[in-house]
Amino acid sequence: MKLSAEDVKRLARLHGASPPCKACSAFAFDGWESFPSLASDAALIQVGALWVAGEDEPTLDEFHLEGTSYWSPAAPIALGFHPYNRCELWQCRQCAHPFLRYTEYGGYYEDRRIRNLNPALIV
Ligand SMILES: [Zn+2]
Repeated sequence: MKLSAEDVKRLARLHGASPPCKACSAFAFDGWESFPSLASDAALIQVGALWVAGEDEPTLDEFHLEGTSYWSPAAPIALGFHPYNRCELWQCRQCAHPFLRYTEYGGYYEDRRIRNLNPALIV
């Protein structure tokens, strides 16, 4: 399902401030991290995505505030910019804690990444 920025903000406000439960705490990273390679993601369920196949490739430009970079735990969640513009939204099946996920494609690798959807960081 395609989500609008408003959908994402609503979900973040509803569930993003609650702490992760035992089932999903292994995925609850403040900044981007590689998805834990040995972990199953059965505790999570996909809600929708900000980009769907068939649409134009979203921009690779990033948006940052002073002092933040891609990996910063405080990096803003700028929904119109990379990588948020190609993210999927997932939630914990038990506590509804929300996560952003996408796959980073490098020249020789693919890396699945995950980050908390923290409402305080959405710009
Ligand atoms: Zn949970």
